[in-house]
Parts: sequence; C-alpha cells; structure tokens
Amino acid sequence: MCQWGTERIIHVIDRDRHVAVDACIADYVQEMNDRGIVTIACCCGHGQGLASVLVLRRSIPEMLRWRYAFENYSLDLIEHRFELED
Ligand SMILES: [Zn+2]
Repeated sequence: MCQWGTERIIHVIDRDRHVAVDACIADYVQEMNDRGIVTIACCCGHGQGLASVLVLRRSIPEMLRWRYAFENYSLDLIEHRFELED
C-alpha cells in the first residue's frame, strides 16, 4: 500500500483520459483498462483493507472473460476488490 497522495498517472478508457491513481495499484488498474474494462475509481485501501476498483456494468463481459471477481455496487457500477501483494 502507499501513503495518501502517492499517485501515478495511468491512461483509462473512460473518456480517454489520464488520471492519477494510488501508485501501488497503478499497474493493476492500467492492465484492467488495457483489457477493455472501464474503470471509474479505485483505491488501494491504504492498509485499511482490500483494494477496490469501481467498474461500469457494461464491462461485465470483460470482467468475466478475465476472471475478475466483482459484486454489485450501484445501478451503474460493480466493485472489484482484491488483496494487494507486498
Ligand atoms: Zn497504496
């Protein structure tokens, strides 16, 4: 995990933007986007629990294809949570 404010820039599919994300999960979330998954927000958990990525529901087929676990989050979003490796 990283301290609050330790971020790296990644390229996300959503509106074709560059965004700052927690540095320790930057590669992981970039890979999700590279696999065609639309991520909306993410957090590494900062040592307080699992890392979390919010994903648009329309990416569910890609989530299944790449075997990411997920749960319902809201009308539009699902949540993928995962354990960070040290
Ligand atoms: Zn972190």
